[in-house]
Amino acid sequence: MKAFVKFCFFLIALSLPWYAVAQQNVTSPVSLDRIGDNLYEVKGGSGANGGAFIGEYGVLLIDAKMNQESVDQTIREIRKLTDKPIRFLVNTHSDGDHVSGNKFFPESVVFVAHANCRKEFFHPGRKGEPSSWSDPALEPYIPSVTFSNQMDLYVDAQKVELWYFGIGHTTGDIVVYFPHERIAFVGDQVFKGRVQLIHSYKGGNSFKHVETLEKMLETLDAEKFYSGHSELLDRDMIRVHINEMKELQKKIAGFMDKKNTLEEIRKEFSKDQSNIIETIYNEIAAAR
Ligand SMILES: [Zn+2]
Repeated sequence: MKAFVKFCFFLIALSLPWYAVAQQNVTSPVSLDRIGDNLYEVKGGSGANGGAFIGEYGVLLIDAKMNQESVDQTIREIRKLTDKPIRFLVNTHSDGDHVSGNKFFPESVVFVAHANCRKEFFHPGRKGEPSSWSDPALEPYIPSVTFSNQMDLYVDAQKVELWYFGIGHTTGDIVVYFPHERIAFVGDQVFKGRVQLIHSYKGGNSFKHVETLEKMLETLDAEKFYSGHSELLDRDMIRVHINEMKELQKKIAGFMDKKNTLEEIRKEFSKDQSNIIETIYNEIAAAR
């Protein structure tokens, strides 16, 4: 019986997305690294990297970490800098490592996200399991302010721009842009040094991901891009990412022209690309 239970845990571990597994090993406490005037990158703890703008009269946070401990640490770090309230928490998208911590913040916080991100809070999981956010008791922690294309928030007199450039990693990923610093927080829309995630089960799409990033570069004058799971990126690194994705799509289309199966195509690439290969394969097959 014990062995069976152990085996079940093993199966559950296998089914977890990589970031959830990775986060279990994170031991560094949450820290706020200063990256601009009153602007910080929120690192460490359990969950993705986010951001914090500490205004004179209030705080805007970007993404929420994943558990009570990391949220408590985040709030403790903020309290070292200001005693003003957290006014806004902006979720860059609906993945658990960015939103699960929402429910550990005070109810008075205004949660903000793209309209599609709010919808995705209720989306069943990868295996079709119902969303835990369907519990009515959690309603105060689900984004109550949503937008479609663009919205500005003001913390004191400081304008913070929220932009939606289209479907990509999910259907509701946004960019939080601080124009006075030319700094953008892009959530999980670009990683450096690890394979891009595209959540097709939520409606994400790799071809639209490329268009979305191109639109971001055209629209925003940003020069620094902070990512949920990698080090700082610049415009050239994002262009490289776009080109690599296009190249991958072209290669897979080429293999499909030669009637290669998905399994055959997978063998041409590294193991960690398995999911993205399948996603692109399915997208091309659906379009043909
Ligand atoms: Zn993430």
